[in-house]
Amino acid sequence: MEQPREPLPACDQRWSAVSVLTDTQAKLEAVRCLMCDDPPCVAACPADVPVKHFIRALRFDAPRRAINLIRARNVLAGVCGLACPVEELCVGACTSTKLTTPIAIGKLQHYAAVRELASGRPAQPGPATGKKVAVIGGGPSGLAAAAELARCGHRPTIFEKNRRAGGVCTYGVPGHRVPQDLVAGEIDYIQSLGVELKTSAAFGETETLDDLLAAGFEAVYLACGAQQAIRPGIAGEDLAGVTTWKHLLDQFSRCNLGEGERPLVPDSVIIVGGGSVAMDVASAVHHLGAAEIDIVCLEAPREMPAHDDEVAEARDLGVRFHTRVMPLRITGHAGRATGLDAVRIRWREPDKFVPGNAEQIDGTEFWLPAELVVFAIGARPAASLAAALPGVEFDSGGRIIVDAETGATTRPDVFAGGDVAAGGGATIVRSVAEGKRAAEAIGDFLRG
Ligand SMILES: Cc1cc2nc3c(=O)[nH]c(=O)nc-3n(C[C@H](O)[C@H](O)[C@H](O)COP(=O)(O)OP(=O)(O)OC[C@H]3O[C@@H](n4cnc5c(N)ncnc54)[C@H](O)[C@@H]3O)c2cc1C
Ligand code: SF4
Repeated sequence: MEQPREPLPACDQRWSAVSVLTDTQAKLEAVRCLMCDDPPCVAACPADVPVKHFIRALRFDAPRRAINLIRARNVLAGVCGLACPVEELCVGACTSTKLTTPIAIGKLQHYAAVRELASGRPAQPGPATGKKVAVIGGGPSGLAAAAELARCGHRPTIFEKNRRAGGVCTYGVPGHRVPQDLVAGEIDYIQSLGVELKTSAAFGETETLDDLLAAGFEAVYLACGAQQAIRPGIAGEDLAGVTTWKHLLDQFSRCNLGEGERPLVPDSVIIVGGGSVAMDVASAVHHLGAAEIDIVCLEAPREMPAHDDEVAEARDLGVRFHTRVMPLRITGHAGRATGLDAVRIRWREPDKFVPGNAEQIDGTEFWLPAELVVFAIGARPAASLAAALPGVEFDSGGRIIVDAETGATTRPDVFAGGDVAAGGGATIVRSVAEGKRAAEAIGDFLRG
């Protein structure tokens, strides 16, 4: 099925809220770059984007050269320009911080990508080898692997279970952070490299690995992400009005994409979790009309995995934080959630922010009312995956065991990367980098 390209209706009215640098702003920012000899920004980039060289290209009015340099390492240039945790990566490492402020590397990368997408220039596939490779999952890792395979002249086909590719970037990250027209534009570019995209095609439901190999695919790249949201296993989880980040953000995205109804969210919502995903849920339920939003998490503010700006944004929306708090049970009446019993905690050992290290403080139990409780405490790959992958080994968390350098699994013709792989993924840029590296290893495998 073709990637649907009908206009995007708006349940989330903030699609175009992301601004792009003007030509003058981009030039002025590029001129500030110190052109460091041994640039720490490059060393800090998981995808090895040649930051200094693409900024130099922008400085000398060569935006096309800039985007070619970026895309050669990171085909989701625009998405990563907006969504990368740059403060922990390139921008955090930038030498310019010592003199003034760091160079706005993400914004420059986003600018170069948007400018190039607007030009509509067609891609250049490599000379054909005729080798067919199946890519399972059309998220960042699968898209990056497929793009690299196509560039090398192979014939990749992406099997994507959803109506659209993009993975979490399409059905997860809210539109005010990464606009869908940008995601769709980068996917169009990847398809123009010669990547075949089969949507509404769920691997494992109709065909197995052996079916794919029998159909002429000589290797398989598994990039199906972490599809199963984790629940903490406390009493009351089965009550109506208890859900997960996955279900809620999926519904929110489908509504924004015109694929589903606007999710009904009650006035009061508790979100359990202190990471970036919990902050995205807070932003989504606020947008959907919730008036009372409480976040409950084990960590103290400075220990939370969410970035400071995400937490500040949630506070600006009026979200209340209950930190160093452990949920005990969901209370209910007539089969529906009415709130959450929780207790304050301290850590047994310092700097170890995991549930097993939490000690409840006697006498500090309290109750928070809410009509909806959303768990945002992580995800793991779908449990059904293993049955469709004979010969592929998984770790105890349900993730595929891979060689960190090549993505090779315990089956020679199968590679994996991104969130589905043990030790892989976790960010878009890392998932992209793993997809590209695995595609290179698949190329070696195909050459025997
Ligand atoms: C809400 C949220 C917000 C995030 N925000 C950021 C951010 O701002 N910046 C950042 O760097 N990272 C962010 N992340 C993390 C990042 O999105 C992931 O690390 C990244 O998307 C992983 O890429 P992937 O390709 O491995 O998996 P996914 O993005 O999960 O893509 C997997 C794809 O495989 C498909 N699939 C699954 N099973 C099958 C099957 N059986 N057959 C066919 N297709 C299948 C899925 O439908 C999906 O399209 C966020 C994560 C979440 C959940
Ligand atoms: S570290 Fe900063 S100043 Fe140095 S090359 Fe990279 S972007 Fe430019």
